[in-house]
Amino acid sequence: MRHDAPPRLALDLGAPPPVPEEAIAAAEALLRGGWLHRYGETLGDSSDAARLEEEFAAGLGARYCVGVNSCGSAMFLALYTSGVQPGDRVLMNGFTLSPVPGAIAHAGAQPVVVEVTQDLVIDIEDLARKAEASGARHLLLSHMRGHIADMDRLMALCNERGLTVIEDCAHTMGARWAGHPTGRFGRAGCFSLQSYKHVNAGEGGLLATDDADLAARAILASGSYMLYGQHRARPPEEVFARWKDVTPNFSLRLSNLAAALARPQLRLLAERARVWNDRHARLATLLGAIPGIRLPHRPQQEEHVQSSIQFAVPGLDAEGFRRFLAGCRSRGVFLKWFGAEAAEGYTSAPRHWRFLHESQSPPRTAAVLAQLCDMRIPLTLTEADCATIGLVVGDELAAARTP
Ligand SMILES: *Cc1c(COP(=O)(O)O)cnc(C)c1O
Repeated sequence: MRHDAPPRLALDLGAPPPVPEEAIAAAEALLRGGWLHRYGETLGDSSDAARLEEEFAAGLGARYCVGVNSCGSAMFLALYTSGVQPGDRVLMNGFTLSPVPGAIAHAGAQPVVVEVTQDLVIDIEDLARKAEASGARHLLLSHMRGHIADMDRLMALCNERGLTVIEDCAHTMGARWAGHPTGRFGRAGCFSLQSYKHVNAGEGGLLATDDADLAARAILASGSYMLYGQHRARPPEEVFARWKDVTPNFSLRLSNLAAALARPQLRLLAERARVWNDRHARLATLLGAIPGIRLPHRPQQEEHVQSSIQFAVPGLDAEGFRRFLAGCRSRGVFLKWFGAEAAEGYTSAPRHWRFLHESQSPPRTAAVLAQLCDMRIPLTLTEADCATIGLVVGDELAAARTP
């Protein structure tokens, strides 16, 4: 058999989802009117931001939704309005992105990092131990890269201990556990509209909750001035009356432009989820068949929306990982690795968060992350691209093992 140049992926795995035409048209109409700020003294309650909140709350089955400028801001506001005080301890899982410990730090609190399992979800036994030892009253649970913990067991433990759960759903917009949407288990769910999540508005965040006091405080603190009545998915006036004079304005507002871009994409979410999950399933089959690669186990109750794929390469050392990644990247397959010495791109691990008051790197999480690779799944990835990725990863892993 003649051997041509080794196969190479032509598509950019780092590219964000293109903005659909309806969203471009909505943004253009908004620009022509000039109403880029979501409030106006003579404006009613029909801004794109107010409509997006209403549509998002309805889709999720939540009473209230508050738009802000990022998911990181949504998480900070959820903690703040849930009563986290400076100096408090807040539990979090160790496999996540830096805005999670950042949101806790923003609230003046101290993260307590909980172990994750080989399947990339929070270790519920370690959560019970650390809840007991720390006296924390909040858990900021990150469904990192779309991996959802056993929410039945987790919520049973948290309810028993009186732990309030705030969910980071940056990677689980559209995902469910046993039929219930993520973001609906805890007191509040926080979602991202950043380009690399499930809806590309550039920047933005959504906080969903059924808690009227939390919602009113979040609206006021996000920077609504006295125009909070222009929110549609908001609690009644008497709730605002309790909070409006005692809530500081942190100016974390959602831009109307981001909302105009997000609304049409929200309607495309189910179709996007279908494409992502199809490509993920193909890649999981191909990568899972490569000797030396382990994929996390996915429980049957989990209905994920998988816009990225994670796999472990047990036994490969740091030098091997560097060769493997360099080999894949030279053939267009941009893999990321959570085991790098320094935080890189969007990947970081607990030992990189040196801004924490007490530096913490739980050992089992460090061992899991040291083996873990990560790859984005662009919506434009074709079936043929999946096959190419399988070939490249197989070849380059074999090559990395035999220097
Ligand atoms: C991106 C991300 C966030 C924060 O989202 P922003 O909108 O960028 O603030 C939070 N958690 C995880 C796991 C993320 O990947």
